[in-house]
Amino acid sequence: MSTSLETIVSFAKRRGFIFPSAEIYGGLSSCYDYGPLGVELKNNVKKAWWKAMVQQRNDVVGLDSSILTPEIVWEASGHLQSFHDPLVECSKCHHRFRADHLLEAKQAEPGHMKEKPVDIKDIDCPDCGADLSEPQNFNLLMKTELGAVEGKKDTAYMRGETCQGIYLNFLNTVNSMRKKLPFGIAQIGKAFRNEITTKNFTFRTREFEQMEQQYFVNPKEADSFFEHWKEQRWNWYMKLGIKEENIRWRQHAEDERAHYAVDAWDIEYKTPWGGWGEMAGIHNRGDWDLSRHSKYSKQDLSYKDQQTGDKFIPHIIETSDGADRATLMFLVDAYDEVETRSGKGGTKHDKEVVLRLHKDLAPIKAAILPLSKKEPLQKLAHEVQAGLWGSCMTQYDETGAIGKRYRRQDEIGTPYCVTVDFDSLEDKSVTVRDRDTMEQDRVKIEELADYLKDKFK
Ligand code: ATP
Repeated sequence: MSTSLETIVSFAKRRGFIFPSAEIYGGLSSCYDYGPLGVELKNNVKKAWWKAMVQQRNDVVGLDSSILTPEIVWEASGHLQSFHDPLVECSKCHHRFRADHLLEAKQAEPGHMKEKPVDIKDIDCPDCGADLSEPQNFNLLMKTELGAVEGKKDTAYMRGETCQGIYLNFLNTVNSMRKKLPFGIAQIGKAFRNEITTKNFTFRTREFEQMEQQYFVNPKEADSFFEHWKEQRWNWYMKLGIKEENIRWRQHAEDERAHYAVDAWDIEYKTPWGGWGEMAGIHNRGDWDLSRHSKYSKQDLSYKDQQTGDKFIPHIIETSDGADRATLMFLVDAYDEVETRSGKGGTKHDKEVVLRLHKDLAPIKAAILPLSKKEPLQKLAHEVQAGLWGSCMTQYDETGAIGKRYRRQDEIGTPYCVTVDFDSLEDKSVTVRDRDTMEQDRVKIEELADYLKDKFK
């Protein structure tokens, strides 16, 4: 059974994953805040990405470049001239829409004949039915001003993508890290785009986080590294438990690709609102980026191969993932409603939610549950929790019946519940319950940290 987006939005708020931003003031459209469990989940997504892309490779290094960028960077990158979407505005309610999205939706309507092209002139405002304006190009970059003195302000831009900071530091990285081709630079950070329409929760927002890696190669090796990175990125989603039937590859058509892109593929997810949506992209960007920045900065960004003596502008294979989109898709993919698994006869309820997140992504790794609030059990349970503080994120919960507490933890994806009972006082052991199999192991308290470490290997 597929889960609706409304279910996920309300679940995410109710269980402390994602809240509407500035909600007590009515909210700010398309802005969201990650709550106590959401920040853990999103951090775990970013950690898993960093581990696979930087920590477990010798050929990729990390970077954290600034968000504010001078105007010339976006002139060199081509964004000032061509980073726009086609905007149409309603003549009556003045709501704005992306013309390409309206055309796509019209084309997908039942009964529409694929061979018959749709013209934007044939489409009325989806909100009030009035006429729409001619499409105009709307630039997505967010401009800001730096400086305290009125009239002496410098224009800067909030970066529209994190990769530009990587190109600007190509030379610094080669020189400081003695890097030789092929090598990559990876970065996680915020990007800003003045999207015309934002929708589908955290899937399309104006402020979002990207996880991007640029791999610099000899042009002769570009095709083989493109295949290598395609495989790596696909495997990353598979390893973290995304269901294979919910993702697919899509190659960009020639007229859809940026003019400099040699090849571009997206990893798409089967979205809860219908259709497939881009989660990540792998792009062969040729020598566009470093050539343009060489030209505009007047710095030589070419590379000399010490062995062959060849000098060339490196080509770039980019992997580009969205931290917010990935987090949302992991949440949707893991959300499972099951027939009641606990309780008997009359105490059974209709359904329970089990969030089947991969263990590495689960916000809480182990919940510590004393069977009673009685002093000796409470004390021992706190000691058990303190014994795990160095190794994993835990949560202490002593309120309500034990079955109810298991359900609360299943709902937020906690892989292990550690129950401290009266026997624990005698045998210095606890019961560990597995979220998915519901099997229980009796484990010595002094061996608990190693037992869990083994589970998270
Ligand atoms: P779309 O076609 O959906 O607008 P895009 O092709 O412009 O996306 P890229 O420029 O390739 O996206 O950005 C790389 C990644 O950053 C995307 O795959 C996505 O995960 C994320 N991303 C891009 N735009 C947004 C946004 N407005 N909100 C959240 N994540 C985004």
